[in-house]
Amino acid sequence: MPGPRSEELLVRQRAAVPRGIGSVLPVFVSRAAGGLVVDVDGNSFIDFGSGIAVTTVGNAAPRVRARAAAQLERFTHTCFLVNPYESYVAVCETLNRLAPIAGQARTMLVNSGAEAVENAVKVARAATGRPAIVVFDHAFHGRTLLTMSLTAKNVPYKQGFGPFAPEVYRAPMAYPYRWPTGPDRCAEEAADALVDLVDRQVGAGSVAAVLIEPIQGEGGFVVPPKGFLPRVEQICRDRGILMIADEVQTGIARTGTMFACEDEGVQPDLVLTAKGLAGGLPLGGVTGRADLMDAVPAGGLGGTFSGNPVACEAALGVFEEIAEHDLLARARAIGTAMRAALDALRDRHPFVGDVRGRGAMMAIEIVTPDGAPDPERTRRIVEGCHRRGLLALTAGSFGNVLRFLPPLSMPDALLAEGLRTLAEACLASAAGRP
Ligand SMILES: *Cc1c(COP(=O)(O)O)cnc(C)c1O
Repeated sequence: MPGPRSEELLVRQRAAVPRGIGSVLPVFVSRAAGGLVVDVDGNSFIDFGSGIAVTTVGNAAPRVRARAAAQLERFTHTCFLVNPYESYVAVCETLNRLAPIAGQARTMLVNSGAEAVENAVKVARAATGRPAIVVFDHAFHGRTLLTMSLTAKNVPYKQGFGPFAPEVYRAPMAYPYRWPTGPDRCAEEAADALVDLVDRQVGAGSVAAVLIEPIQGEGGFVVPPKGFLPRVEQICRDRGILMIADEVQTGIARTGTMFACEDEGVQPDLVLTAKGLAGGLPLGGVTGRADLMDAVPAGGLGGTFSGNPVACEAALGVFEEIAEHDLLARARAIGTAMRAALDALRDRHPFVGDVRGRGAMMAIEIVTPDGAPDPERTRRIVEGCHRRGLLALTAGSFGNVLRFLPPLSMPDALLAEGLRTLAEACLASAAGRP
């Protein structure tokens, strides 16, 4: 592995595609469904990645496929800025109803997570008249100029790509496992550090928004301790600062609620979606308080492809799949099963330092005997998973987090097999084998 057919295609890829576009597992896919990815050489992999949290309802969920196919027959594009169509409005109505926003909400659609972040910043600056954006350590918000400026990690996301966008300020993230004074003091001290940054360093009157992932994604599935997100909400409210929840990875049923902010009843001013929103078709959304979203005059927001009608139909199919199969409960059940298996790994292997996450978004942090990040071992375990037919992803600022994002359509037996495969890869690693 990769097999001969994938090797052939890789040769073509190397000649045609820049090396800056890497692949986690360079096997070329021929089919993907039911929680399995099958490559062109006939190898099959249990999918614990969902194309990075995208195919939450599955790779080819019936309602997504049927709606998108029917739309392809009708028309592929008009540009919503030229002629509107109903499915765009229907997706916005659904997000307005579901997003944890107080009062009346409005939504605009975009093509990606980064574009959702970009537009949220535009709205926040226009609505407040303030320039600064506060973000957190370990944050990931995208790869465009502004969003990589908002992203924390230098290599590979920022190295060589500066100068970066100005008026971006970074606060420490409430990361309980690595908080210097221990997990119990983490929420309070991280909130105090945010207050210090906002009030003393930037000046609250200059801050348009605090942008936060309610559970960090690429940063390593960092779950802030209870109480931290409500504190952030309050700190923002007290100062007329907007709270933007980047739910690009956590949103749309992934964590067992439609949005991760619901877990503690947090009500941000703006909520961002993309990844899981349209079952694999490119679509993102900015959902926000109506008064804020309407602060930008007509023509100030939009995009040629934004809210493509095929992607909008797919998103409506995603919402139907979630309701029809009670996928919120399914995400919670997957979380319970994964946590039990991952806790057992932690009990068995000292190199599993932490188990965290929520719903179908779980991770383990791999450490050396003295608790330092161990990216080497992490890479070996991932390779062991791939060799044994489990597609797993890494994450984390130190490259030492293994993250698991199975599609909610994955049957129990396959989930259990995937977790057994992971256990084998960990056992092999303990014995010094791949
Ligand atoms: C993936 C991700 C983004 C960027 O989304 P793209 O569609 O890749 O532009 C932004 N924020 C978070 C939290 C993400 O996980």
